[in-house]
Amino acid sequence: MTEYKNLIGGEWVAGTSSVDNINPSDTGDIIGRATHASAQQVADAVSAARQALPKWSTGTAQLRSDILSTVANELLARKEELGELLAREEGKTRAEAIGEVGRAANIFRFFASEVLRMRGEKLASVRPGIDVEITRDPVGVIGVITPWNFPIAIPAWKIAPALAFGNAVVFKPSELTPGTAWALADILHRAGVPAGVFNLVHGAGAVVGDAILSGVDAITFTGSVKTGRHIVQRANERMIRVQAEMGGKNPLIVLDDADFDIAVNCAVDGSFFQTGQRCTASSRLIVTEGIHDRFVAAVAERLGKIVIDHALKAGTQVGPVVDQRQLDQDLRYIDIGISEGARAVVKGELLRRDTPGHYLSPTLFTDTSNQMRINREEVFGPVAAVIRAKNYEEALSIANDTPFGLSAGICTTSQKHARHFQANAEAGLTMLNLATAGLDYHVPFGGRKGSSYGPREQGTYAIEFYTIVKTSYLSV
Ligand code: NAD
Repeated sequence: MTEYKNLIGGEWVAGTSSVDNINPSDTGDIIGRATHASAQQVADAVSAARQALPKWSTGTAQLRSDILSTVANELLARKEELGELLAREEGKTRAEAIGEVGRAANIFRFFASEVLRMRGEKLASVRPGIDVEITRDPVGVIGVITPWNFPIAIPAWKIAPALAFGNAVVFKPSELTPGTAWALADILHRAGVPAGVFNLVHGAGAVVGDAILSGVDAITFTGSVKTGRHIVQRANERMIRVQAEMGGKNPLIVLDDADFDIAVNCAVDGSFFQTGQRCTASSRLIVTEGIHDRFVAAVAERLGKIVIDHALKAGTQVGPVVDQRQLDQDLRYIDIGISEGARAVVKGELLRRDTPGHYLSPTLFTDTSNQMRINREEVFGPVAAVIRAKNYEEALSIANDTPFGLSAGICTTSQKHARHFQANAEAGLTMLNLATAGLDYHVPFGGRKGSSYGPREQGTYAIEFYTIVKTSYLSV
C-alpha cells in the first residue's frame, strides 16, 4: 500500500500517526495511508522553508519558470492517471477529475510565464537628483491550507504563484485527499524545486494547521467559513497576511423570459454536478412566477435521470458524497428543510450500488423562504431549494439577502436585467446564462461578504498577495 509521507526540507519523512485514504465510491478500497506530521515536524518544515528562502527568492527567474513548466508538463502527461487517483479518493467522476488535473497543469503553465512578467516602475522624485523605484519582494514563507473538493486545482492556484514570485511554501492538504497532494509534491520535488522551498505536511487542521499558523509569514486558505474565521483571527493576532476563500450560498435567478433549456441546464449542472460539492454550486434557485412551475417540473424530471454511481464507472454523471461526515450533514439538512416546511419535490435517498459507497440522490425543495436554514447555511451536497419571486426586483433582493457573496447567476434574455444584475449582485463572480460554477483559470477568483477575506486569487491578480511592494529612493 502506498504510504504518503511528508516532504520536509527535501526529505520524505514519516509522521507520528497514520490515517487510511478511503475511496468514497467503495469504502472497502483503501487507496493508501497518510502519515500525519507532528507539530514539531511542521515547525521543522517552516524552518527548512525559511532557510531555503534567500537563495530561491534571489535566484533567477529562468530557474523558477523552468521548474513550473516542468511541473505543468508532467501534470499534463499524467492527467489520466492522476485524474483516476483524484476520482478514487475524492469521488468526483473520472472526466471531472481529469479536467481538474488539466486545469492544475494550465495554472502552473500560466505562472511559469508570469515569472517572466514581473514589472517594476521608475518615477521621477518630486525632489531634485532623486529617482524613485517601485519593485516587488516575495512575502517569505507561505502556509497553504486547502480543502478536499478540488484537491489539485486549489493547491495549484496557491502553490504556483507562491513559488513563481520567490516564496517558500509549507502545504497542508485536506486529510481526505492526501494521495493527490502527495503526487503533486512528488512532481514538484522531482521537477527540481530546491530542498526546503516546498514542503508537504499531512494532518488534522487542529494540529498541523495550527502549527503552520504559528510560524509562517502569510497564510492562504480555502475551506469552510468556520475554519476560515479561525484562521483569519489567528493570522490577525500575529499580524501576518491572510487570504481566505470560504463557502457560498449561491443564487441562480431564473426570469420568465429566460431561454428555458439553458435555465434548466444551468440549474441541474450548477446545483448537482460534482455532487453539489462546489463552493460555487447554485443552492438557491430564485424563480419568477411565470416560469416557476414549468421550471420545477423540468428540473425534477432531469434529476430523476442523473446516473449516480462509482466515480470511475463509465457512464457515471455524479459520484458519491466525499465521506460519512459530509453525508450525515447532507441528510441532516434534508431533515431540517422538511421540518421547516419546505416541500421536497425530489427527496434525496441513500442509494445502493455494486460497491459500498456514500451514494445520495439529489434533493430539490420548493415552497421555501429565503429565511429558512436550508437557504441561509451552506449544505455542500446535492441539495438545492427553489424560492419563488414576483419579479426581477424581488429576485435580486432575495439573491443579495445572504451572509455569503461568492457566485451569483441569472438566466434571462433581457439585456436590461442582465446588466442591472451584473452591476448590483453582491458577489465576487456573476454569471449570465451560465451555471454559477465553472470558471477560467487565468482571471481573478474570489467572493465578497462572508465568502472571502483578503485579496483575489488567480490570474495576474495573484501577485498582490504573494508579493510586497517596495518603494526605493535613490540619490543619483
Ligand atoms: P474545512 O474548513 O473543514 O477544511 C479546510 C482545510 O482547513 C483542511 O485542510 C483542514 O484540515 C484545515 N483546517 C481545519 N481546521 C483547522 C484549524 N483549526 N487550523 C488550520 N487549518 C484547519 O473545509 P472542507 O470541508 O475541507 O472544504 C469544504 C469547504 O470549503 C466548503 O465550505 C466550501 O465552500 C469551501 N470551499 C471554498 C472554495 C472557495 O474558493 N471559496 C473552494 C472550495 C471549497
